[in-house]
Amino acid sequence: MDRRAFLAATAATLASADAAPQLAVNGGTPVRTQPLGTANWGPLYYDDKEQTQLSEVLESRKPFRFANPLDKSKVALFENEYAARMKTKYALAVTSGTAALHTAMAALEVGPGDEVILPAWTWYSCYAAIIQMGALPVFAEIDESFNIDPADIEHRITPQTKVIMAVHLQGNPADMNPILALARKHNLKLLEDCSQSVGASCQGRPLGSMGDIGIYSLQQSKTITAGEGGVLVTSDPYLYERAVRFHDVTVRRDFPAKLHYMPGLNYRMNEFTGGVLLAQIRKLDTIIGDVRRNAARVYDGIRDLPNVRLRRLPDPKGELGTGVFLGFPSLAERQRYADAMRAEGVPVSGPAGSVVLPIVPEIEQKVTVVPRWPSFSTDRGKSIRYGKECCPRTIDILSRFAGVMIGPKYTERDTQDAVAAIRKVYPTIVRA
Ligand SMILES: *Cc1c(COP(=O)(O)O)cnc(C)c1O
Repeated sequence: MDRRAFLAATAATLASADAAPQLAVNGGTPVRTQPLGTANWGPLYYDDKEQTQLSEVLESRKPFRFANPLDKSKVALFENEYAARMKTKYALAVTSGTAALHTAMAALEVGPGDEVILPAWTWYSCYAAIIQMGALPVFAEIDESFNIDPADIEHRITPQTKVIMAVHLQGNPADMNPILALARKHNLKLLEDCSQSVGASCQGRPLGSMGDIGIYSLQQSKTITAGEGGVLVTSDPYLYERAVRFHDVTVRRDFPAKLHYMPGLNYRMNEFTGGVLLAQIRKLDTIIGDVRRNAARVYDGIRDLPNVRLRRLPDPKGELGTGVFLGFPSLAERQRYADAMRAEGVPVSGPAGSVVLPIVPEIEQKVTVVPRWPSFSTDRGKSIRYGKECCPRTIDILSRFAGVMIGPKYTERDTQDAVAAIRKVYPTIVRA
């Protein structure tokens, strides 16, 4: 059955019943007996391409990237293809998204006394990378895109602000134009964390290519993966050299260093990881195409529902379609929706994969690696308050949305079931 026929059939079913089909949560027949699975991405696409890359590294007996000439290193080849895909001059492969964030902070010269603005809803690493530099994290609210609200940034800028961190969460680009304008107006650096949106774009520009630096995680729960891995991209040769030095204990091996010594760490990627990621970057657009097609089927199937309220999508063409999220008037309605959808065999979840950082007790208490850390030792650091008072809107928005996760390998039947369940349940929660 094609989608049109399916929708017509669904509509007919809805019309013919007394009022509406009985919800599974009330004893009716569920849409599915086998619950729709949770999404898994890159590993589902592993095949002989990754296998061959790994075998070649084994046979070479040179798993260290710099044991290989530049044109033979799989890590270097991966970096070249990654930079081309993201339309940046440089890409630097590192061991994780967290390592990429730490390296970005060092490249951007963030240090004690500096402030970095980040969304209140994001991953721990964003906060930790700022703290590791001795700088002060300043939280901004999110909007209904689940990303940093451009309207909540400017009043948080102080003379100490150095960087705005825009994080593109769950496949959805942050609203980049106003954020770019703010960064320009106040002469701030812009760091994009694209860990949950690898390959997504905003107004045709790949995420990560608009700010001064973009970073990505290639950990297993992200788009493409070797289990762990990270990338930093930039088009600024100065930032690139600082990043290279920081990630490689200050050495710059491929051409003479222009910069002075910097006490860097070791975040170098190895050739096994580079080989798997080289195979995976070549599949990125296939994976994204698959998930976008599946998400479009669900969006198209529910768009006409009365009063339907989608997550805000600053660029619907640029998002990945990681999840199809609907908004409700309050937590109570979302809870009823979630309970009913689970009973139908199409489980939904609230926004996931991030944390409301300001209400994590240890963050609210400003716990650092050791006491007397520079981040909180200044008057400003002492006076800043975290906790729920600094992000009420973030907490509210996250409590009111729920989404069906979309996988790139979902079948047409899977997406039809998602549509059928939403069409069955949503009108019982949000009336026309
Ligand atoms: C996953 C993630 C990271 C950290 O990446 P790792 O590779 O796990 O270190 C950073 N930021 C965001 C938004 C993430 O989702």
